[in-house]
Amino acid sequence: MNNLLRSSALKKFFQFAEFRAFVDVLSFGLVAILPDGQVTFANKLAQSICFKELTDLNPFASYRSVIHPKHKIVRALIAEVLKTKENATRQVEWEGKVYACEARIVTVNKKCVGCVLLLNDVTATAHREGQHAIIYQISSALSEIGNLHHVVQVAVNQIIKVLPVTNVKIMLHDAYSGRLQIVADTGNAKHHITQLNVGEGAAGKCAQELKPVSIYDISNSDIYIKRRKKDKGAFLAIPIANKGRLLGILNVHDTTPRYFSEQEIQFLTIVANEIGSAIDNGILYEDLRRKVEILSELSYTASFSHTSNFEGQVQHLVRLSGELLDAEGCYVYMYSAVKRKFILRYRYGVDINVPHEVDEDDMSRNRVLLSVYRDQQTIMINDVPRDYTKPARLIKLGVRNFISTPLYAGEEPIGILSVFNKRRGNFTSEDKQLIAITTQRIATKIENAKLLKRLANEKDILDKTVENINEGVVVLNRKRRIIIWNHYMAGLSELPEEDAVDQPSYKIFFSRLGLKQLTRFIYSDPDKQKNITQPIEEVLVRSDGSKLWIACSISFDVNEDNKLRDMIIVIRNVTAEKALMRAKNEFLSLTTHELRTPLAAVKGYLSMARTSSIPASSQKRYLNKAYDATERLVGLVEELFDVVRIDENRVELAVEAISLHDVVLQCIEHLSQKAQSKNIPLIYTAGSNIVVWADRAKTQHIIDNLVDNAIKYTPAKGTITLSIETRDTDAVVMIHDTGVGIPVHSYDRIFDRFVRVDNPLRIKAGGAGLGLYIVKNLVELQQGKVWLTSEVGKGSTFYFSLPLAPKAVPSTAYAKESS
Ligand code: ADP
Repeated sequence: MNNLLRSSALKKFFQFAEFRAFVDVLSFGLVAILPDGQVTFANKLAQSICFKELTDLNPFASYRSVIHPKHKIVRALIAEVLKTKENATRQVEWEGKVYACEARIVTVNKKCVGCVLLLNDVTATAHREGQHAIIYQISSALSEIGNLHHVVQVAVNQIIKVLPVTNVKIMLHDAYSGRLQIVADTGNAKHHITQLNVGEGAAGKCAQELKPVSIYDISNSDIYIKRRKKDKGAFLAIPIANKGRLLGILNVHDTTPRYFSEQEIQFLTIVANEIGSAIDNGILYEDLRRKVEILSELSYTASFSHTSNFEGQVQHLVRLSGELLDAEGCYVYMYSAVKRKFILRYRYGVDINVPHEVDEDDMSRNRVLLSVYRDQQTIMINDVPRDYTKPARLIKLGVRNFISTPLYAGEEPIGILSVFNKRRGNFTSEDKQLIAITTQRIATKIENAKLLKRLANEKDILDKTVENINEGVVVLNRKRRIIIWNHYMAGLSELPEEDAVDQPSYKIFFSRLGLKQLTRFIYSDPDKQKNITQPIEEVLVRSDGSKLWIACSISFDVNEDNKLRDMIIVIRNVTAEKALMRAKNEFLSLTTHELRTPLAAVKGYLSMARTSSIPASSQKRYLNKAYDATERLVGLVEELFDVVRIDENRVELAVEAISLHDVVLQCIEHLSQKAQSKNIPLIYTAGSNIVVWADRAKTQHIIDNLVDNAIKYTPAKGTITLSIETRDTDAVVMIHDTGVGIPVHSYDRIFDRFVRVDNPLRIKAGGAGLGLYIVKNLVELQQGKVWLTSEVGKGSTFYFSLPLAPKAVPSTAYAKESS
């Protein structure tokens, strides 16, 4: 009731004719609305702005019936204010003008009695302010250059604030794909296509023609591509371009069909231009920054001379070159002079089916490769299919844009680098220059790395050889200081590398090692040095007093002025060779002596036997003596044969299970007579039958030899005892005598060739010093060992072992004792 009263009060108030006359001349529109939505008053200006038609409003009508349906915003504003009872303002546009539409609640005694709508023409200020705001926002976004997304999003957010539209979007043109793509959107649009080709639809038309395209209602448009059938409303697209180059489009939607005013189009065009230069700067900046980054990385990688991952680094450089030009792919052919072929070595990006190898002779079929390599020029072809030269191969590969440039090492072309695009945009002449420069870096890198790699390899091989060679290697610099002292030299001289390197050579060779001749030679003048043909031989005395014979071969390098550059000394340990030489000489004199003695005996006895005047008994005695001497001769020759067989590794073994007992009995049988002649009993205490895995004849030879020695080096009336026992998996034979004995320091030596130890029976016993050498070798060939214990003047015991046979073999004879 109260409300009604109050409303009627307002009604009455507005019905004063004087009042109406006053408000009709106001420069702003005024509308009074009751809480139930009835319009009680509207001045002429207000009616002309937003009413369907001019009316005297008698009786009162609902605001919904009088306000034009186009003024949705006004209607929505009234509904909102009446509902919330709070003041609100919107901007509306009508026939090219912008109005600030302010709805204010009217209260009487703090009770709402309705609201008044004030409509103010703000066209002039709205555009200026909106534009300023946007430009301000964009320029501040520009200060954060590099973030393109941010720039465009700020722009759309600002536009929607000042324009009566429902959606603002920016689509950017991707030069590579030729498509338009939404990059900023105020949202709240139900219908839009996220991607479009230039030329496609209303937006595409705007992009193609670089002209605004405005549509009253998309539902009746034949160029607008709708997502859904029922989509409707107004659409306006403004091109974003810079210096005539398409960057994208700015488009707005309004859900109600309407015309866009000149001012709106003008305003959006200015904003689009601002966005255009912002984007362009942003892109350019981005592009520049990326190129600078890649270039600096390129030069860093190119100057990096790590040889460990050479392939990886070149691959990386190739990738960077591709990235620098924003190319879809990149590949490198290297020329192999050996194969006379171009070989595909590196590739990056999109795979295209280029041949793995191109024969040099076959190049005429590959025109591009031919002119790049032969004519040594960079070739750029944009839009391959339309190029007048039409390289068939590239067309086949689906390549559209292409740059190919030679790689040089000095003057020599060593390969070809090509970048290509199948879909992306053209390459520029700047790209062409850039790639020609960067490829030089790649080529230098490849060449340097190759050389370094080869050098490193060679040095490595050399180092390893010098270090592991079984000869001393010493290198002196021109000042005759030691610069290389290899491992073998360190061992030979007992001087570690760190003690020798950097030292003057006289200090080491003369003062430390006492090598007089070598030192004298090193410091002699180059003319003398040149004449050296033979190695210098010297004795090197080691810390334990032992002497080594060394042979030093010297080679050196002199420059034009006859000045020494460096000197390489190779030092061999020739002690063994020398010893062998000595042994050989000794052998010769020994054998000749040994052979001559029995031969002389044979000759002597035979000539005596020939004498007819002697009795027959004496004749027989001489013949027997001659026979014995021949036996010795044969024995010696046999031994020599054995040694040769051993030395030449030609000893053949017939291994079987043999009874040691049998072999010992045989030996006693062979030698008992010889022993008896010196009155030496051969004592043999047989134990259990022991069977070994050995060669029967060789084992017999071993025992015979040892027992023969025992007889030889034991004075008359001594004793020789033989015994056999088992030790773990071996059988051990022992031959003990009560002879002259052997000094400890000769234990090892006596097993060497031609070694005879001085003792009282030596001369009488005869021999060439080969017996024990043969014994040792035959034992060891059968997996056994030989050793001795002895005391000079008291006697010796020789032991040798042989592996036990897996199973016992019965012996042929068995005797407890034999003498
Ligand atoms: P050869 O007996 O022909 O001189 P061997 O090689 O058989 O040559 O012996 C080498 C040296 O070992 C002999 O010259 C001798 O001095 C010493 N020798 C070998 N056997 C014995 C032994 N049973 N007692 C003492 N000296 C021995």
